[in-house]
Amino acid sequence: MNVADSERLESALDQMGLSKTTDLADADVVVLNSCVVRQSAEDKVTSMLGHMKPLKHENKNKIVALMGCLVGPNTKNLKQQFPQVDVFMRPQQYQPLLDIVGDRLDIDPSGCVGPLTATPAITAYIPIIHGCNKMCSFCIIPYRRGREVSRSITDIARETELLADRGVKEITLLGQNVDSYGQDLTADVDLGDLLEAVHEIDSIERIRFLTSHPNDMSDHIIETVAELPKVCENINLPFQAGDNDVLTRMRRGYTNREYRDKIEKIREKIPGVSVTTDLIVGFCGETDKQFEQTYNLVKDIRFDKVHSAMYSTRPGTIASKKMEDDVPAETKRERLHAIDDLQTDIQGEINKRYHDETVEVLIEDIKRGTAYGRNRNDKLVYVDDATHSIGQSVNVTIHRTGPWSLGGVLKPFTGEDGGSNGHS
Ligand code: SF4
Repeated sequence: MNVADSERLESALDQMGLSKTTDLADADVVVLNSCVVRQSAEDKVTSMLGHMKPLKHENKNKIVALMGCLVGPNTKNLKQQFPQVDVFMRPQQYQPLLDIVGDRLDIDPSGCVGPLTATPAITAYIPIIHGCNKMCSFCIIPYRRGREVSRSITDIARETELLADRGVKEITLLGQNVDSYGQDLTADVDLGDLLEAVHEIDSIERIRFLTSHPNDMSDHIIETVAELPKVCENINLPFQAGDNDVLTRMRRGYTNREYRDKIEKIREKIPGVSVTTDLIVGFCGETDKQFEQTYNLVKDIRFDKVHSAMYSTRPGTIASKKMEDDVPAETKRERLHAIDDLQTDIQGEINKRYHDETVEVLIEDIKRGTAYGRNRNDKLVYVDDATHSIGQSVNVTIHRTGPWSLGGVLKPFTGEDGGSNGHS
């Protein structure tokens, strides 16, 4: 979501005549888009803000903006803590910075915040719903991004068309909980309806969506994913913890059994689907036995990818007020390593199955001389001799596999199997 927000701000600044630099000292405007979902992310922003102090001191005209989830409704404390910052903006609230830049350049910033990315890539993120109504006890997001607000299907389809016109081939529909898309709208629509609408747009080849919630992933959504050819077979379904008591304390609203049933249904309805998840180890009061439930779930389900994190208290959340962060840091680390080691083995085994298989890869860009892209299951694939194929979907025969990526070569075109290389 932060990447999507940054792209939008970048687009607006681009339309005002600014161009991108990664040189902090040289920049006229520096924007830090903050994430506070975990302590480590918050620490990163605070350290960067420290780094900005001497730069701002040297050049008083430099505009420093702090955006994102570190900025709550009240900025009084932040202003005292970080005097080097000129402007504080809550997520998606770009206008104060645009006004300052507009003043400096003597131009009118109105109408500059649009959906267009400044430098459109092959893939693009499109926020479809902002905020979250769930209030999981560990999570700061609802306090910083507010209650759910869905965009209309017409608005999202229009943005998708604009992106398609500018060469985007793959879109990812984004939200803290995309499965609850539409619940706040007067029109009776859900994510399935939205997928159908964007599926109609001709030059969009692939559609993904992120992130789902087990309680809101309805049969209609699952069936729509299964039916629509452009929607990729890849679902991210966070489970967060495997033990039922921990899940209750987290206020997740489902049990271990219900989560397993949901995964079973997804796998049954969407053949070849890859499934990824998010989990937290060391939540308040988590015992060794309770952690074992998380470990066993990872072992049994065999996810394609796991985003694992150690619990850290986020001030203002329900857990921070009512529960004790009592699992020692060392235990959290051990649990995280246990999960990561297990998952690395599982991923390596799953990816081995692609050996000698041919997969469709949408080539996104070139890294260190090699073209790369993703297959429909969202596996990162490096492709030899495909640097001329950026923006194209190509068939790739996999010769190298590892837990984190696959590697292969363009499949020679024989004309017999209907497969082509270089089709866009
Ligand atoms: S559903 Fe996700 S974003 Fe919403 S409160 Fe829970 S963890 Fe946070």
